[in-house]
Amino acid sequence: MRQTVPNRAAHIHGSHSALVLPAANPYEWQLLCEHVAAVTRQAGSVRVRVAGVECVARREERGAERCCAECGRALVQVSFRMAWRDLCGNCAQHSLIDASNTVKSTATTRASR
Ligand SMILES: [Zn+2]
Repeated sequence: MRQTVPNRAAHIHGSHSALVLPAANPYEWQLLCEHVAAVTRQAGSVRVRVAGVECVARREERGAERCCAECGRALVQVSFRMAWRDLCGNCAQHSLIDASNTVKSTATTRASR
């Protein structure tokens, strides 16, 4: 059976929830990131997968004082781990969009299992 979920959908897995959201335009990306941040603040960590690219959002502890590996800004409330780097929401959003653009042609081989 073929999956009907479009390529540009984000799969969000929390500890008690799983959700698929569209991620095809900037507005949908914005909603997606806000949703992930909100769930992460409650659940502690959330796994996000878009077009074969995976990222783990984690709640930042108060006073941890870690910085985004991309822009250097302080990680407030929620950080996004991608390819062993911790990013702020803004940079994670850009990285996910870039990554989903580059891997969209090969994503079907990984997802079909
Ligand atoms: Zn950043």
